Amino acid sequence: MTVLDAHTLWQAVLGDLQLRLPGPSFETWLSDTSGASFSEDSLVICTPNTFIAEMLEHRMYSMISQAVEKIVDRPLELRFEVGNSGQGDPARLIEDNPIPVSDSSISTISAISDAHGRQSEISVNPDYSFGNFVVGKSNELAYAAAHAVASKPGRLYNPLFIYSGVGLGKTHLLNAIASRLSEHGNTPIYTTAEVFTNEYIQAIREGSTDLFRERYRSADALLLDDVQFIIGKEQTQEGFFHTFNVLHLSGKQIVITSDRPTSALSLLEDRIRSRLAGGLVVDIQPPPYETRLAILRSKADGAQIEFPEGVLELLAEDPRPSIRELEGCLTRLIAYSELVGSPISLDLVKHVAADLFLAHRNKAISDEDVLSAVSDYFSIDQDAIKGKRRDKITAAARQVAMYLLREEAGLPLVAIGRFLGGKDHSTVLHAHRKINAQLAVDSTLRQDIINIRGSLNSA
Ligand code: ADP
Ligand code: MG
Repeated sequence: MTVLDAHTLWQAVLGDLQLRLPGPSFETWLSDTSGASFSEDSLVICTPNTFIAEMLEHRMYSMISQAVEKIVDRPLELRFEVGNSGQGDPARLIEDNPIPVSDSSISTISAISDAHGRQSEISVNPDYSFGNFVVGKSNELAYAAAHAVASKPGRLYNPLFIYSGVGLGKTHLLNAIASRLSEHGNTPIYTTAEVFTNEYIQAIREGSTDLFRERYRSADALLLDDVQFIIGKEQTQEGFFHTFNVLHLSGKQIVITSDRPTSALSLLEDRIRSRLAGGLVVDIQPPPYETRLAILRSKADGAQIEFPEGVLELLAEDPRPSIRELEGCLTRLIAYSELVGSPISLDLVKHVAADLFLAHRNKAISDEDVLSAVSDYFSIDQDAIKGKRRDKITAAARQVAMYLLREEAGLPLVAIGRFLGGKDHSTVLHAHRKINAQLAVDSTLRQDIINIRGSLNSA
């Protein structure tokens, strides 16, 4: 076993959260965080600003804490601190460097202070550049359009509207546009509709909407990510339309992304139909195998880790449409190999395949599905699993069932206890922890779980 450090632990936690959180939330709140230090009973996480630290502490604490506990198998107190973890994250090093660094320099596009003087800025991610966007049949149109508006803002397609399913590159392209624009001396505002909404609501509450409008209207370009977030939020929509109109009238480039093609578009159409004439709508399709492989290759190069022949090909075969999930697999694989201290190999991938591909499910798995899969696998009656028999095999099958009911069917502890013949939730919790801990050391059990998961997911 290698010693688990804060950086590795946090990477593993992020890998897990990335698969569970909606993309915009992950991007907004977690993508710029890092593990700073880690002790027997606490974990310190670095965040880029107080706004994000508070958000994580107040709104996401329990979810993060669960993800941490899953990995270290004990509850840790989490502390969120603003600052630099010193982990050598290149983006952060550059950010701290007062000397502008050519191409890759981070431009903090909009530094926004709220009434308390806190900064709620969204900094542009320099990893999301045109240079490392892999172009293929599925995204070439969106790429070309994004590239064009970044070179000639406000002159070609305005607004540019990009839509796709989640995790297919919208945020990446938007960041690439933002970087390119600021390299050329423009001052774009890049933000997500979620942040836009929060700020707008706060501005209303504090009576500072003038300031809010002014800030947006003084931008050279507005790059708004995940517009679907504001649909149905009447007041925010209103605020957005005003901003949109003012900017568009003065020839400023607007780029909007959404993961819901029709509804987002028709919402816009209703309100700004006349302004859509000069606009362009492009979509991004799920990438074919070749593009998935090319993307994995490029991410693997960036990670500077050896991937033996065949590993990336195997990952690319997984037909899940989202590139984010594909990356999540890669992140998990790397974290897993570091955790158990064995190099990445084809065997390792096959070994942890069920874990890697865990997020990929076509259908909801029910409690009955889990029970019958466990019962079949161990050849033990469903009634016995639900009953009180304490022989070794039955007890083991029962614990596996509890574990999978939580992991696969997503059932709460109490419901699992009830479903399995009225067991106490603490019994279920104990079983879940025990299996979790055993999985790290017991390869037979790991294979059992993989097999049962396999049967659940293919059934
Ligand atoms: P979306 O905003 O559409 O949900 P993102 O832009 O966040 O998706 O993309 C998810 C992840 O996949 C990001 O890490 C991004 O860098 C990566 N990605 C998406 N498309 C590409 C691509 N064509 N080339 C390289 N990486 C990509
Ligand atoms: Mg996105």
